[in-house]
Amino acid sequence: MGRWSAAIDPAWLHHEERPTAARLALQWLGTAGFRVVFGEGGAEHHVWLDPHLSRHSLAEVALTRLRPNLQRIAADVDRADAVAVGHAHFDHAIDAPEIARRFDARLYGSASMMEIARGYGTPEALLRPLVPGVTVHDGPCSLTAYRSQHSRFAFGRVPAPGDVKAPLRWPAHAKNFRVGEVLALHLAGGPLTVAHLGSADLIEAELEGVQADVVLACTVGRQATPNFTHRMIDALQPQLIVPCHWDRFWRPIDAPPLQIPTTDLEGFLAEVRRHPRAPDIKVLPLRGWLTLA
Ligand SMILES: [Zn+2]
Repeated sequence: MGRWSAAIDPAWLHHEERPTAARLALQWLGTAGFRVVFGEGGAEHHVWLDPHLSRHSLAEVALTRLRPNLQRIAADVDRADAVAVGHAHFDHAIDAPEIARRFDARLYGSASMMEIARGYGTPEALLRPLVPGVTVHDGPCSLTAYRSQHSRFAFGRVPAPGDVKAPLRWPAHAKNFRVGEVLALHLAGGPLTVAHLGSADLIEAELEGVQADVVLACTVGRQATPNFTHRMIDALQPQLIVPCHWDRFWRPIDAPPLQIPTTDLEGFLAEVRRHPRAPDIKVLPLRGWLTLA
């Protein structure tokens, strides 16, 4: 397999049942979407990151105005206490307002994310704009956003640049989900710290002194960011990396996963292994769980 291969080698995948008594666990749901579950004393706290269950087809994305697919959200989201979004492109932001509204969950994100949710009708009381460098506490989870940047994978540019400056009118074309401020999300408060990079770029100066035991790392578009993989490992010094955003997120979640062309997941695995720190790496199947502690 190589850079242009779309296949997934089943031997790469980590399989695990949904844990029942983990102190910290996560589930990958395709694209950059994760749920992180903090469990202490029998209580669970579910924090969703960039949840994307709707998975519209390419034709729908290109030709129609989008709204969240409520059936698909209901099929996978059984609980949410908080939702945090790293940037406001549709494949990161489209389902967050509905999940927040449905579960009365707090919604954290950029000013653009707030306008997207406002337009959707998510109650104002749930909207929590993130200020880079300022830690907020949500149950046991301490969430800090750090200024980051989006990979310039589209012929050297970031698609849908700029901000959403007014409440988004739904349904909305994909291009109206402007990228907004790009944030690296850092979660502490559990036995391990977790960082989420929803796009394959970073700003080292913003992450000075920040460490993450686990990094949820976007792999698509990293070829546009010089030496992304090793810079990410140098900056955050993780013990474990979980790659994400490698799957064709316009295919149904139940279909066998295929890589987005150019993702080269195999190349990413090799890049990680070549780093002197050689952090562990776990590739999860769609809906796959991983107990961290
Ligand atoms: Zn994006």
